[in-house]
Amino acid sequence: MRKKIYCNFCGGKLVEKFFEGRDRPYCETCDEPVYENPVPATAIVVINTEGEVLLVKRSVEPKKGMWCLPGGFMELGETPEQCALRELEEETGLAGKIETFLGVMSNNSPRYNTVLITGYLVKNYSGSMIAGDDASSVGFFDSDGMPEIAFDTHKSFIRIYFSMYG
Ligand SMILES: [Zn+2]
Repeated sequence: MRKKIYCNFCGGKLVEKFFEGRDRPYCETCDEPVYENPVPATAIVVINTEGEVLLVKRSVEPKKGMWCLPGGFMELGETPEQCALRELEEETGLAGKIETFLGVMSNNSPRYNTVLITGYLVKNYSGSMIAGDDASSVGFFDSDGMPEIAFDTHKSFIRIYFSMYG
């Protein structure tokens, strides 16, 4: 886990200080803690008419070379739904419409510490499938023929889909 060393606002060196119930990076010049929070992200379960799940093969770390759901980190000013559909289009070329919310969960990440992931279901989509952005390959898989999934949260969203809607 990488640690912040300098204050974003004044450039001063941060110290570690017990503040509001836990040790936090603290800037003594600004007299403020640097609050650190989970990073919000989305994941999308896209289902085709055969009931298969859309997966992308990761072309970047972490878990490069493994398969996962399309998805990624929210940008400032975006809603989670906009983030999900943007990531879907960037990674697979498909324009989708959100069917329903599947759930929200968190996972530990070596880079971001804690990631908060919102899952959505997409059944209506258009466009031609082409791997892009952080994906080297993209394809639909049935529940029996699925490769190993890179992230436990993504596995859970697939499980939620099959238990509730499959
Ligand atoms: Zn400062």
